[in-house]
Amino acid sequence: MNAERSQTLSLDIAALRSEFPQLRRKVHGKPLIYFDNANTAQKPQCVIDAVSRYYREFNANVARAVHTLGSEATEHYEASRDKLARFINAARREEIIHTSGTTAAINLVAYAWAAPRLRAGDQILVSTMEHHANIVPWQLVAARCGAEVIAAPITAAGELELDALLALMGDRVKLLAITHVSNVLGTINPVRQLADAAHARGIPVLVDGSQAVPHLAVDVQALGADFYVFTGHKLFGPTGTGVLWARHEILESMPPFMGGGEMIERVDFAGTTYAPPPHRFEAGTPNIAGFVGLGAAVDWLERIGMDRIAAREAELAAYALNALRSIDGLRLLGDARARAAVFAFVIDGVHAHDLATLLDFEGIAVRSGQHCAHPLLQCYGVPAAARLSLSFYNTIEEIDAFVAAVAKVRGLLA
Ligand SMILES: *Cc1c(COP(=O)(O)O)cnc(C)c1O
Repeated sequence: MNAERSQTLSLDIAALRSEFPQLRRKVHGKPLIYFDNANTAQKPQCVIDAVSRYYREFNANVARAVHTLGSEATEHYEASRDKLARFINAARREEIIHTSGTTAAINLVAYAWAAPRLRAGDQILVSTMEHHANIVPWQLVAARCGAEVIAAPITAAGELELDALLALMGDRVKLLAITHVSNVLGTINPVRQLADAAHARGIPVLVDGSQAVPHLAVDVQALGADFYVFTGHKLFGPTGTGVLWARHEILESMPPFMGGGEMIERVDFAGTTYAPPPHRFEAGTPNIAGFVGLGAAVDWLERIGMDRIAAREAELAAYALNALRSIDGLRLLGDARARAAVFAFVIDGVHAHDLATLLDFEGIAVRSGQHCAHPLLQCYGVPAAARLSLSFYNTIEEIDAFVAAVAKVRGLLA
């Protein structure tokens, strides 16, 4: 038995599943099979409890009140920063900026870091497999500065065309903004290699880790990027939470993006001075309950072990891949060698929305549509695709049930 297998066996999936209240519910009278984890993950009881406990026991605003509740709320809110720093191996806790999600984190970098630097003719390099959140903010700032967004191509297998990407890294490129794991294809990009190549040409790198942190052990120092962003709700935490990580000297060089309370040192009509990072970038009352919950999620993941989660998911991914390939007329989008348990596909003669609607009647939740990635779907020449995205709490039995349900649904549509 190899090491990976024995690691996986040591996870008690039934016990872990029982920690998720929502995995016990029924949909249309059938037990829920939740295969939409790339859209958002279900929440374990400990996260729900942490949020509820915050409101029951120590609700107060952070960093402004000297009373007991204020300092308790601040302590818990700031503790989540420590936990998140440890979780991604940031060198310092001040490198963790709490945001409302990946979208907010990328916009923060776009407006506070890129906008002041971009000049007419500059380029921001992304890839064809990016989520809209890693395309549109760059287009918005580029339009203001006369810069442009260019996209590196991918292969039919859904991997980056490395030579083409390197060839695009010219003098005009001021940032490479790339996803760690594709939310559609499941492709895991070679971030370290890309960061080294970009840095050799003096190009900073932002990595969208939204689909990586729930599935892989991420070490931002080992990856070598300059910015790393992710969203909390896909990491088993509450919605409205997310993280921008950047090296401290970069954050120190950035002006604020939003102004208001909490982000200042001193306000004067003759001129205001700003707090150092991270607070410079956290204007206003933050999502305190959300970050208390995200801190609990991260503690819980560390107790399970990201390596064990990754091993479990690799096993599920291999099984799902074979299962999907066994379905007649099913075409997978992409077939990357390094992949996460995310699969987008089309089935001959069945519209993705019809498939998802009919699967819902079987209690199976899959996403259908364009997955916030219009350029990618265009690249594959399909108007819409269905997507199965797994978490370690999914099971082989659920994948079998999915295959049977697809056969049934096709019978209905025939
Ligand atoms: C979900 C996702 C985003 C956007 O996350 P929000 O929580 O909606 O801000 C960005 N990039 C990728 C790859 C995603 O999967």
